[in-house]
Amino acid sequence: MARVYNFSAGPSMLPEEVLKTAADEMLEFGTSGQSVMEMSHRSKEYQAIFDETEANLREVMNIPDNYKVLFLQGGASTQFAMIPLNLMNKNKKADFIITGQWANKAYKEAARYGEARAVASSADKTYSYIPKTTAADFDPEADFVHICMNNTIYGTKYKELPDTGNVPLVADISSCILSEPVDVTKFGMLYAGAQKNVAPAGVTIVIIREDLLGNAMDFTPTMLNYVTHAENGSMFNTPPCYAIYVAGLTLKWIKKMGGLEAMKEYNEKKAAVLYDFLDNSKLFKGTVVPEDRSLMNVPFVTGNDELDAKFVSEAKAAGFVNIKGHRSVGGMRASIYNAMPIEGVEKLVEFMKKFEEENL
Ligand SMILES: *Cc1c(COP(=O)(O)O)cnc(C)c1O
Repeated sequence: MARVYNFSAGPSMLPEEVLKTAADEMLEFGTSGQSVMEMSHRSKEYQAIFDETEANLREVMNIPDNYKVLFLQGGASTQFAMIPLNLMNKNKKADFIITGQWANKAYKEAARYGEARAVASSADKTYSYIPKTTAADFDPEADFVHICMNNTIYGTKYKELPDTGNVPLVADISSCILSEPVDVTKFGMLYAGAQKNVAPAGVTIVIIREDLLGNAMDFTPTMLNYVTHAENGSMFNTPPCYAIYVAGLTLKWIKKMGGLEAMKEYNEKKAAVLYDFLDNSKLFKGTVVPEDRSLMNVPFVTGNDELDAKFVSEAKAAGFVNIKGHRSVGGMRASIYNAMPIEGVEKLVEFMKKFEEENL
């Protein structure tokens, strides 16, 4: 068996150790005589897995007690509707910063339920930077301000949060969750689909300050009301049991790696290998302004579509897969989430050097 270096934007690589533990426990978890996949979500065995996962997430992310952690389904995309349904509840207004497709989808969905306003956008330069804002840009009457913290498709990341005054900040952290520490207290709510950096697809993590709960719009479907899930420990209905279990394995792996400070250090070192090469290459160049570069998603181009396609195909043959850029950007994108070892990036850079020599 030869595992490839998988640069997919999501679903993406999981730590090998996590996959091995899942494999070892596939037929029998502990002494339960059954796979986690087969367990009743109401069983004592499963509840223990669930509770340990939540406790480890709270510990690793340093989540204060006045925040609820919810394990939901429907992906980050369902949050685009749940957020306005639950939070656009006082003045029916919300502000959005448009830093890419995901941010734009959140904005458009909210506009179906109230007055959504695009405060700033980086569409003018293919979302290659994070637009600067000041407190004066935001409506103090807005019920929340929404940002996408790491823009998976375009490879930008917020390094400094916008100052929104007293308006709660809501952030999509789907592609940067667990990649570095975040100060949860700066947010009203954080959410992430798990398939980029935590687990297989199927579970969506929501971290929400308790005072924001309980004012959903009247017509909010029961399943889309955060209170339904908060009051039932995410077990109003069957949760995505197996994905939550794998999330638990990933969290244990992160703890062993030294927690989020250590992950950040590792991710910075790893991303620098690729960015340093791109900054000095005569063939390849990064597409994002240096100050807003993501640690997780690194888009780059040669400037020639044919050469890009040749690179993607030769890279694949050499064991570097899923490196084609998003269809809206073209070129290449290397997603280098927590589970990508630094050797994977070093080998990719070696391969890029060789390609550069052969094609310049
Ligand atoms: C992948 C992604 C999404 C969409 O997630 P789904 O779980 O497929 O709905 C939303 N936002 C960001 C930032 C993403 O990277």
